[in-house]
Amino acid sequence: MGEGKLPETLIEAIRYFSDLDVCTEFVAKMRWPEGPVCERCGGVEHSYLTTRRVWKCKGCKRQFSVKVGTIFEDSPLGLDKWLPAVWLIANSKNGISSYELGRALGVTQKSAWFMLLRIRLALQAGGFDKIDGIAEIDETFIGGKARNMHKAERARKITGTGGKDKTIVVGALERGGKVRATVAPDRTRATLHGYVQENVTPGATVYTDALDSYTGLERDYEHQTVDHAVQYVDGQVHCQRHRELLVAAQAWPARHLHRR
Ligand SMILES: [Zn+2]
Repeated sequence: MGEGKLPETLIEAIRYFSDLDVCTEFVAKMRWPEGPVCERCGGVEHSYLTTRRVWKCKGCKRQFSVKVGTIFEDSPLGLDKWLPAVWLIANSKNGISSYELGRALGVTQKSAWFMLLRIRLALQAGGFDKIDGIAEIDETFIGGKARNMHKAERARKITGTGGKDKTIVVGALERGGKVRATVAPDRTRATLHGYVQENVTPGATVYTDALDSYTGLERDYEHQTVDHAVQYVDGQVHCQRHRELLVAAQAWPARHLHRR
């Protein structure tokens, strides 16, 4: 799925996710970028039962759906409600009430309250193990008018200093692993250090840009900085790719919604 196809308004999100096959494929790609994995046995060979939208594992012979092991599990609400809900929460700067969510999705306030609770818990919990190898931490600005700009201009703005109408996204890329990203209130030292501590095991190697807020990480980490102006000089450092991943992740922050 190309970035350009992602819904940009609530109406688009609701329309886009009204198709359960689209929803299933969307969550499947998010959860299993390398292809579906059986929760029970870790098997990667399976057949897909189109009519029921479940996979049948060739290892343990059990069936699993894309909802298993996620916040969507055990909910009578379909992904056609959950995915626009996540979209709305991810894209509302000032928060959203269960009344607003209920009205927007055409579900009861009680259902909306339940969804909000689960989604917020998942966003807070992160659901990741800490990175203990090599971590790249990066922060970027998304939103505002950036989406409407020409591509080059947009890239420049996104990697620039941002503005008041932009959302700050901070993310961590595990070398050879997954990217995780979250919306951050600011880029202060307290916020960014807190983020690193939550996501990276002390002693691990952490690459960041030269932002002053990262200073001091070397006390607990093998801290390396990379200047984005001279990206790719050091073959080990590829924060630029990370930025691209972050942009994709922010377009869909539910990427890190599934829990272990
Ligand atoms: Zn299995």
